[in-house]
Amino acid sequence: MLSAPAPSAPALGAASLVRSGVERSTARRSDAEWLAGAWADPLTRVLVVQDGQVLARFADGSAELVFVPPGRAPDGASFLLGIDADDVAYFGVSGPLPESAGADGVRRAGLRDAGPLLADRDAGLLTHAVALANWHGVAEYCPRCGSLTEPAQAGHSRRCTVDDSEHFPRIDPAVIMAVTDPDDRCLLARNAQWPPRRVSVLAGFVEPGESAEQAVAREVHEETGIVVDSVSYAGSQPWPMPHSLMLGFRAEAIGTEIRVDADEIAEARWYSRDDLRESLVSAELLMPPSLSISRWLIETWYGGELPSPA
Ligand SMILES: [Zn+2]
Repeated sequence: MLSAPAPSAPALGAASLVRSGVERSTARRSDAEWLAGAWADPLTRVLVVQDGQVLARFADGSAELVFVPPGRAPDGASFLLGIDADDVAYFGVSGPLPESAGADGVRRAGLRDAGPLLADRDAGLLTHAVALANWHGVAEYCPRCGSLTEPAQAGHSRRCTVDDSEHFPRIDPAVIMAVTDPDDRCLLARNAQWPPRRVSVLAGFVEPGESAEQAVAREVHEETGIVVDSVSYAGSQPWPMPHSLMLGFRAEAIGTEIRVDADEIAEARWYSRDDLRESLVSAELLMPPSLSISRWLIETWYGGELPSPA
């Protein structure tokens, strides 16, 4: 059974993207001498990222990242990911993937396919590296003057080569919420873009000038006509596809009458735990993947792992 998590330490699932195994070493990002030494060290491990994909080795239902030494890394924006307990430094580089695909179960993979299969260290490194690589790919020019920027702070910011302004990685906050009614039924909906049978909790982006709690109430009302109160924070998850931070909430509905916004939502309804169990066992409904905070929110409400089709 999943128990309700403490607000400060949400127990997101083992397959989620909320995992790590290296120290981010923020103090080293401005230490040019240390960075040069780490890059000259053949024991340093570099993860190459191209279009959100890396090389990973798959075997027996698990996966591990494939690193190269700095001498074999391609040219491109590089960024310090951290240092492990054995003092090995990890960097990411944006560039063409190395040529070892095809050997020993090694193939190209991204967060969605490799993420749930990686151990904690590699899951954290991949999430961090993909987030930074996505940003470097669109931050080449200064948003103030249009001149070229170059990486700074070991790839955790970029600086304009003309006006010296510093720019930081973009992160878009989004809210995702498990809404329950007075009978503790959960509101699940199918996005108009999704395949038949796939349902999940509601989600949306936080707008400028809005709190996360206000965004929860606005999105639920816009998409389903439901008014909520008692919005409480549940936990968060990085979602660098391309650059979101998912903020998870629980919210209680005042009424139960649903009016869907047909542009965004194909259907929405209230599910009791019995309704959901029956719909999943009969394969009438499909749940979001275990990688996602949406699945964790649903399982936390349900009171445990969701049943599979019979
Ligand atoms: Zn500039």
